[in-house]
Amino acid sequence: MVVVMQEGASEPQVQAVIDRLVGMGFDIHRSTGVRHTVLGAVGAKIDFDVRDIEVLKGVAEVLRISAPYKLASRAFRPQGTIVKVGPPGREVEIGGQEVIMMAGPCSVESLDQIQRSAEIVASCGARLLRGGAFKPRTSPYSFQGLGEEGLRYLREAADRCGLLVVSEVMDSGDLAMMLRYVDLLQVGARNMQNYNLLRGLGKVDKPVLLKRGTAATIEELLLSAEYIMAGGNYQIVLCERGIRTFESYTRNTLDISAIPVVKKLSHLPIIADPSHGTGRRDKVAPMARAAVAAGADGLLIEVHPSPDTALSDGAQSLAPDQFTALMKELRMIAPAVGRTLP
Ligand code: PEP
Ligand code: MN
Repeated sequence: MVVVMQEGASEPQVQAVIDRLVGMGFDIHRSTGVRHTVLGAVGAKIDFDVRDIEVLKGVAEVLRISAPYKLASRAFRPQGTIVKVGPPGREVEIGGQEVIMMAGPCSVESLDQIQRSAEIVASCGARLLRGGAFKPRTSPYSFQGLGEEGLRYLREAADRCGLLVVSEVMDSGDLAMMLRYVDLLQVGARNMQNYNLLRGLGKVDKPVLLKRGTAATIEELLLSAEYIMAGGNYQIVLCERGIRTFESYTRNTLDISAIPVVKKLSHLPIIADPSHGTGRRDKVAPMARAAVAAGADGLLIEVHPSPDTALSDGAQSLAPDQFTALMKELRMIAPAVGRTLP
């Protein structure tokens, strides 16, 4: 941290700031210029609030130079992390050369619906089957998911088609049960800052897909990843799924720039979800193409055998022929940015 004192700050004011910084555990390097005194505060401490210093008398400006997260930062693993999903022998690597496609309906509705979805997405080259069994719906009167029964259907359909399973966990109390069915545990946007759930996920030996909250900064997303990592689980895939802005044409604003930003700040892989990112089926393909071009390590896409009858998020779900067409386009874009797609 660098503290710039105001012009004319008194010696007792400078000393009070130094005492406070030393009390916080920093070593101080003082530089007294013609006009300003500048204090360089160095040390291993990462948990501090710059405002504690900003409000001290005589302080002009405080600049934080280290990130507030450590394990999630790029410096921790400059070479990047490859997250392995699935049992040995059937592993899929996220963060490597291949753009990993995860696709399926928003919710598991029946064995027949998820089975047909699995066949479609597997035949197009997806690696993971998505489908919510516990749904975080905005209205309590909307379909809430089939629960464990849905997970059973999801697992069965995925296994039949050689796919792995990604599904959302909403409650840390469900974790132990979900581990039996799910290969990649999704934390939804609404739960990105559910710290009890994040702590629970820090203790499990399964990878986590952590979605960005609708009002979360990239720094807050990385701090949520830090929660999981601090518990010992380093297998995390981040997901940009759109944030809330003043724009109302699309359901959310898919922040494509978060992809290269996260790549610079963190070693964790990042995928994009253009379905929730736009909320409209006709806008999913362009944003999926943009995300791959921007360096996404994968995509999470809602695909339904008959979107118009879907029990949730039908408007943003691709029909089978639309997903097939998108995959063809992505097969041209991926090699142009040094990636592969089956
Ligand atoms: C979902 O993937 O169906 C979902 C609810 O996503 P999000 O948490 O991003 O809204
Ligand atoms: Mn959905």
